Amino acid sequence: AKFNGRNTYKFYTESMNVAVMRRMSLENAMRLSLEREDFFVVYQPQFDIKSGQIVGAEALARWHHAELGIISPAEFIPVAEECGLIVTLGQSVLRQACRQMQQWLLQGHYLRVSVNVSCVQFLRHNLLQTVIEILEETGLPPHHLELELTESILVTDPEYVLQVVNTLNQRGVQFSIDDFGTGYSSLSYLKRFAVDKLKIDQSFVRDIPGDADDEVLVEAIVNLAHNLRLKCIAEGVETQVQADFLRQLGCDQIQGYLLGRPLSVDAMQQLLSSQSR
Ligand code: C2E
Ligand code: CA
Ligand code: CA
Ligand code: CA
Repeated sequence: AKFNGRNTYKFYTESMNVAVMRRMSLENAMRLSLEREDFFVVYQPQFDIKSGQIVGAEALARWHHAELGIISPAEFIPVAEECGLIVTLGQSVLRQACRQMQQWLLQGHYLRVSVNVSCVQFLRHNLLQTVIEILEETGLPPHHLELELTESILVTDPEYVLQVVNTLNQRGVQFSIDDFGTGYSSLSYLKRFAVDKLKIDQSFVRDIPGDADDEVLVEAIVNLAHNLRLKCIAEGVETQVQADFLRQLGCDQIQGYLLGRPLSVDAMQQLLSSQSR
């Protein structure tokens, strides 16, 4: 038992070191990559559930590092948040997405691009000014931009966030609540914030139809959204039965592997052109 104990301990510290080293090397690599603009954006289409038309595209960050290979945002976003690089990274994604959306508009594709905003980026930086500057710089009409916020952003500093959200919304920028239902439990913020859409988290979508609890939750979120005159979108839709079930409930939009994976700019462009033909 003694031997085992020591062995376990040794293993534990070694794997911790590996994790810490990986984190540090990621942070250093990220600094360099940001300077070299090695981050790029892919776009996942969002569909109107009735017409099947593409109504939006979610901008998702990707990092292709020369030596480390493709690194998932699930890994680099938390590191970027911890070391503050998320501000620069977030601005880069926002700028690329707005520039791209403006080009699609000029080609006659009337959709909306949605961009994820991290807590750190919103609360420790002047998001209002950044968004206004990037909209001006790219010429994108504000109502073609949607910002995805998590519930944690809304509850951390409500007075400040309320002011920023409502000011941008008055100018036309749309807002959605990402991963809705997984965060804070109070719903009172929905009355005060100028939010336009709820995104039903994929953890609720995975087991419908079939899981009675998830069925009830999804239906409740759809009804909540509509009663508050908000739209709702389900994410992580992978199967036709999920899509059919969501349509029956009256969910407005869907996003997921069933209808479209995150796509490169070129692939998204092709999809948009094939749809408008
Ligand atoms: P998210 O905002 O909830 O984005 C949805 C994630 O689900 C994406 O993962 C997307 O590729 C994935 N997904 C889409 N459809 C399906 C499906 O049908 N099935 C399954 N299993 N997954 C699906 P991704 O691109 O790896 O991004 C992971 C997370 O990283 C995002 O979750 C978001 O929280 C964060 N993230 C990505 N890009 C950015 C960014 O530019 N800024 C910030 N702040 N966060 C970002
Ligand atoms: Ca999102
Ligand atoms: Ca989400
Ligand atoms: Ca998520």
